[in-house]
Amino acid sequence: MRHLVLIGGGHAHVHVLKQFGDRPLADAEVTLVGRDIETPYSGMIPGFVAGLYSFEECHIDLARLCQRAHARLVHAEATGIDRAARRVLLKDRPALDYDLLSIDVGSAPNVGTIERAEQGAIPVKPIAELGRRWLEFCGRMETWLGPLNVMVIGGGAGGVELALAIDHRLRDVAKAADLQVTLVTKDEILMGQAQAARRRLRAIFQRRGIRLLEQSGAERIERGAVRLADGQWHQADAVFVVTEASAAPWFADTGLPLDERGFLAVDATLASTGDDRIFAAGDCATVLEHRRPKAGVFAVRQGPPLADNLRRVLNGEQPQPFVPQRRYLSILGTGDGRAVATRGSWAIEGRWVWWWKDHIDRKWMRMYR
Ligand SMILES: Cc1cc2nc3c(=O)[nH]c(=O)nc-3n(C[C@H](O)[C@H](O)[C@H](O)COP(=O)(O)OP(=O)(O)OC[C@H]3O[C@@H](n4cnc5c(N)ncnc54)[C@H](O)[C@@H]3O)c2cc1C
Repeated sequence: MRHLVLIGGGHAHVHVLKQFGDRPLADAEVTLVGRDIETPYSGMIPGFVAGLYSFEECHIDLARLCQRAHARLVHAEATGIDRAARRVLLKDRPALDYDLLSIDVGSAPNVGTIERAEQGAIPVKPIAELGRRWLEFCGRMETWLGPLNVMVIGGGAGGVELALAIDHRLRDVAKAADLQVTLVTKDEILMGQAQAARRRLRAIFQRRGIRLLEQSGAERIERGAVRLADGQWHQADAVFVVTEASAAPWFADTGLPLDERGFLAVDATLASTGDDRIFAAGDCATVLEHRRPKAGVFAVRQGPPLADNLRRVLNGEQPQPFVPQRRYLSILGTGDGRAVATRGSWAIEGRWVWWWKDHIDRKWMRMYR
């Protein structure tokens, strides 16, 4: 009996568990180590913030998936790997032995460049924590009177969607407040996406009265204010940081090859380039031959090839390479029941685009419930 340990209930591992439930493995034991039992589906989180989805609608119950896959669930946080002894180190729990290991623990916004971000901002990752803090925050805003300044730092897809979702929800919740949502970003919004998408989103921000400060990196967060790169302080009663993804610090102690930003370096089969007993997928891994943005859509796509390759290795076969697509459809919800879709150089907007996104996301969730 060999032991496969999956660390993290990210999007790719959710598929691995589903596939093992559909087609059980012979002669292998599977354990999932998860920090959160209910894992969020990133595509629906801005919709949750906007009040369009309930908590249950956008979270997957890992306990049920594990039960179906005959996998053991260990509710714990992995803190390291002792590769010589082939053990996964856990916080406040004994270590776990493995024969084969797969890591899908996601990423967290890089807050290292913003002074006092950890003390002064509401973290967007872990997303489970964001959900709890957001509901608490909305509760407090119901009775807020007068000016209410909310700042979102980070102009990637996550930051853009979050700013629009926050604006939509607070207009409903904080009725007595004089609301101003501001998005600040050190470059342009939606870097790497089509110019047409940037134009549309800028027009939507303007129409909705959301302030957009591009080429304005945040430098320091104090209670009630944020200092930007030009030295100006801006009032902020609440700050959300959605800056570029950063890797878990414990990867550096594993001795595994990392990319230049500290993410696990894997080859096209998703195996570590330095240890063929360790696979990694999703945000936490960088496929050196096929670099792609850190986005949920790629983590989702890696699920089927990861499941197949783990099965192959357990059967004594060679894992097969996987080439992710280069151009991909990105649909950004604007929080108000509309969305912008972009692929390659085009972008379209409308209510039907939101229905399309909603259909895709709900269909995905149904597969893993
Ligand atoms: C506000 C926001 C909105 C976003 N919207 C979109 C979007 O619409 N579309 C899109 O494609 N991307 C979106 N993203 C990006 C998206 O969240 C990530 O790319 C995606 O979640 C990565 O998936 P993953 O499988 O790598 O990891 P995650 O989804 O982050 O899952 C990681 C899992 O591992 C667990 N875990 C973490 N550390 C440990 C540990 N040490 N031990 C055990 N378990 C651990 C966590 O509990 C979690 O269950 C958004 C991001 C944010 C912040």
